[in-house]
Amino acid sequence: MDAQLQEKWKELKARWQEIYDLTGVSALLNWDQTTYMPPAGATVRSRQLALLERLAHERRTDPAIGRLLDELQPWVESGDASAHDAALHREMRKRYDRATRIPASFAAAFAEHVSNSYTAWAEARPRNDFAAVRPYLMKTLDLSRQMADFFPGYAHVADPLIDMADGGMTVATIRPLFESLRQALAPLVAAIAERPQIDNRFLHRRYPRQQQLAFGEKIAAAFGYDFTRGRQDETHHPFMTKFSHDDVRITTRVDESDLGNALFSTMHETGHALYEMGIDSAYASTALDNGASAGVHESQSRLWENIIGRSRVFWSHYYPSLRATFPEQLADVEMESFYRAVNRVTPSLIRTEADEVTYDLHVIIRFGLELDLLEDKLSVDDLPEAWHARYQENLGVCAPDDRDGVLQDVHWYAGTIGGSFQGYTLGNIMASQFYGAALAALPQIEVEIGEGRFDTLHTWLRENIYRHGARYTADELLRRVTGQPLTIEPYLGYLRSKYSDLYGAL
Ligand code: ZN
Repeated sequence: MDAQLQEKWKELKARWQEIYDLTGVSALLNWDQTTYMPPAGATVRSRQLALLERLAHERRTDPAIGRLLDELQPWVESGDASAHDAALHREMRKRYDRATRIPASFAAAFAEHVSNSYTAWAEARPRNDFAAVRPYLMKTLDLSRQMADFFPGYAHVADPLIDMADGGMTVATIRPLFESLRQALAPLVAAIAERPQIDNRFLHRRYPRQQQLAFGEKIAAAFGYDFTRGRQDETHHPFMTKFSHDDVRITTRVDESDLGNALFSTMHETGHALYEMGIDSAYASTALDNGASAGVHESQSRLWENIIGRSRVFWSHYYPSLRATFPEQLADVEMESFYRAVNRVTPSLIRTEADEVTYDLHVIIRFGLELDLLEDKLSVDDLPEAWHARYQENLGVCAPDDRDGVLQDVHWYAGTIGGSFQGYTLGNIMASQFYGAALAALPQIEVEIGEGRFDTLHTWLRENIYRHGARYTADELLRRVTGQPLTIEPYLGYLRSKYSDLYGAL
């Protein structure tokens, strides 16, 4: 690489680092807004965030970046660039193209619409007032189709929207997979509903906040969360956020009358954080310094939360310590009863509170509705009824209103229709595939979990998944790590075996 090219590569990376830092500052302001900011700070905070977004957008779409990418293209194609540099160049190219294809005027109009739509939803949901959000939703649907049209050549109108979150995934791959999963899960849910219900009432005794937080942080640290590079704070809707390579935060929500709430949300967000913390430090502050896709990210949160955190072997080690933390509340509860309680299956109305077996049905219902809306098979007017019908059909439950129906999730009111739900279920499917590969390579992992040790598993995940950051697509990563494309069999096998053990042969 000659000196002139070297200068250009340096300049491109320096420009990208500014975008990375602006994004990190926005994340910091968002984190503060949802944790500690006094309510009166809200108005100016919105202005500050809008300003940062504008500055970041200007930098992301600066023609100088396009010019530098072009000038460096021959170097990448010549094979002289290292694999790392080639991947970095490809990722910057992808994001630059994506940012510049959407005209600034459209991006601004969409952002303004979404902000109004969100406000309308936040007011309409408590009032159970679908009519109030209906015109917003119709416009969102229209804008979502327009958004897709900036990426011509797609096979399905949802493909470009899905690609933004789960790069490389398409309706053609996801739809048949989700349909097979739905057909396998529905009878499983029905069979469980016939069995005696598991008693979980003791989870709703009074569990003081401080002890809950301390216990959750103990688990996070044991999983490998590095408190010198992060911290946990309280919020309403838990999330993980990253300000920089070495500042990756988690948030949780404590309900003193629900022991599972903070405990499993902490494990979930820790899984997201371990991924970000485990990215190769050589990628720090670059376009590769984040996870591969929404689905791969969710595979890590669900792996730590469910496959590990809701396993019998995990609680065989940690239950005595949980009981010592809450000696009165859990005095009459044996480990096995606790294990059963945190894995209780009940068809319910709310996605975020759903157990492992019913969870994906909530997601698949939403994914199907999105596609039907985008394909014009379903009108916004008929959406509330279609929602109820699909819940009845798939879960055997029906919300009494739209509040817990079509108004339940923020996604359609704060972004596009299309692209925002599939990652949750893709994550569950991939989690089983990844964990299967880890166990095949290192069978001692499960023995170690029973001893409260997670370093072998954590190291394997870091080596095989985390360190690569955004270098591979989800599909490339799956094939590299497991030798397989996306497949639901390992996930179904996991669910069938775990829940047959809990509920009797299914
Ligand atoms: Zn998550």
